[in-house]
Amino acid sequence: MEQWPALAKSAAECWASKMVFSKPNKKQQQLSPETFEGHAGIYAHIPFCQAKCPYCSFVSYQDVDTNIKNRYMQALLQQAQDMAKHPWSRTRKFHSLYIGGGTPSTVDISLMADFIAACLDAFDFTAVSPKSPEVTMEVNPNTVNKAMLKRFRQAGVNRLSIGTQSFSDAMLKVIGRKHSAQDCIQAVKLARDVGFTNISLDLMFGLPGQDRENWQNSLETAVELAPEHLSVYELTIEQSTPFADQVRLGRLDLPNEDLSLSMFELAREILSARGYEQYEISNYARNGFQSVHNVNYWENGSYVGLGSGAVSCFSGVRIQSEKNPERFITMITGQQKPLKEAEFLPIDARFRESVIMGLRMTAGVSISLLEKQYGMTPEKHYGEILELLLNQELLEEKHNRLRLTKAGMLLANRVMAQLV
Ligand code: SF4
Repeated sequence: MEQWPALAKSAAECWASKMVFSKPNKKQQQLSPETFEGHAGIYAHIPFCQAKCPYCSFVSYQDVDTNIKNRYMQALLQQAQDMAKHPWSRTRKFHSLYIGGGTPSTVDISLMADFIAACLDAFDFTAVSPKSPEVTMEVNPNTVNKAMLKRFRQAGVNRLSIGTQSFSDAMLKVIGRKHSAQDCIQAVKLARDVGFTNISLDLMFGLPGQDRENWQNSLETAVELAPEHLSVYELTIEQSTPFADQVRLGRLDLPNEDLSLSMFELAREILSARGYEQYEISNYARNGFQSVHNVNYWENGSYVGLGSGAVSCFSGVRIQSEKNPERFITMITGQQKPLKEAEFLPIDARFRESVIMGLRMTAGVSISLLEKQYGMTPEKHYGEILELLLNQELLEEKHNRLRLTKAGMLLANRVMAQLV
């Protein structure tokens, strides 16, 4: 246990040349979440897209030269191999590799296959569940073809996350997507043809001009395709995006709160009637198909982030990589750490994160595990605030777990804001 601060510090120093790094206090040294850390995940970020969607605030760039993309993939592979040699990684087993973006399906397939092979080889992915390791790739429907999907399968990808967003061409146009509903249907068919048995579709609601009927049609088309998993997100207006400008100018016809809530409930109704369990506020799965990688985030587990703009979080240290892909390449090839910021998270902050992230899941958080990990309980930490949320029936305590009620889930943002 005493090794924790040293381990965390050395983990950060793997990347950091300068960092915000407060010394852990005595209590933190005695109560090390490291002791309870389970297996970890790896996230690899591909910051390239065909076109920038007007609502998107992710680290992603359009119209990037192929040469830069290729050099980026080589740098990413180099970073994976370097990171795998670090003492923290060498003592860790990994359960998942998630390749997200951006649009990972816009880079050279061979370089992507080399990167996946290098990760599977360099990190210890000793099986921790029958389907382990879970290797997910995000794709956009119009960026894939059969040969490409086949190659991904051969490279070890066993879960496909398709950025569908809507099965209404009108809505896809409104939100600036470059694919059609038919492209989505075709992408699912091709993925099945080449043997994918774990497919997730992303859908969005609360879109400009969208009504319940339009949303219902999208949900029903999605379930007809029988994906194993569905992520259902409300459109959020992020600062510094074209949509934020349009909202400021009063030019975006967004559904009001009541309509958005009724769309959220409609998703819950339709999907649960079709055998999908809501296991997180925005995520639904058939039995056994919950996302291993995402559950690790919600359980506040450790993960290594590779690529520009990616975040790593392990042993109480959070590290943000350089966002600009070209600077990222230059740093990696120049043997520099691609660091933007590193911070040591105090134990109180980790506790609150574990509560807030855990409450996103329908199972909630285990109170006894929190006590074991952090030496504190929600009751002791939050006092009256927690009592109030319990009295308002937005939270409930059952079988030693704290979780959102059905009503609490509808108001999740407000509940979380009180627990931050
Ligand atoms: S495809 Fe995804 S990552 Fe790329 S711009 Fe659109 S929303 Fe952002």
